[in-house]
Amino acid sequence: MKDCNQCGKCCLKYGGQNLATNDEEIALWEIFNPEIYRYVRNGKIWHDPDTGAKLHKCPFLRLQTKSVTGSATQYLCDIYLNRPEDCRLYPSEIGEMVRDECEMIEAIDLLDISKAQHSLEKHS
Ligand code: SF4
Ligand code: SF4
Repeated sequence: MKDCNQCGKCCLKYGGQNLATNDEEIALWEIFNPEIYRYVRNGKIWHDPDTGAKLHKCPFLRLQTKSVTGSATQYLCDIYLNRPEDCRLYPSEIGEMVRDECEMIEAIDLLDISKAQHSLEKHS
């Protein structure tokens, strides 16, 4: 199991879907992070602050072209420390990572899924 290389696949796939959040973090955003709270509508994320329309990509995902890791591109989360619950919990299952082509997975992980799951849980 490799470290996350910020390939961005998870954010690109899920960032425009109905990411799970909760009342507590929404209340904290309202007080401390109005720049995040403005994208919430009726307890759901992410919505255009002006029109209220559902966004099809996460407004906080940023592409950086020159990365310190040497890869050509790298995605950054502009609200990393205050990101929603769903984002904080990803990745949690090997099956999901395989489906999403998460770049933390190595060929050896696929030989023993239980061991890989254990390794992932230690990673988190
Ligand atoms: S909030 Fe951050 S971690 Fe979550 S989808 Fe957006 S960019 Fe990715
Ligand atoms: S898909 Fe995997 S490697 Fe890529 S950013 Fe998400 S967690 Fe990191």
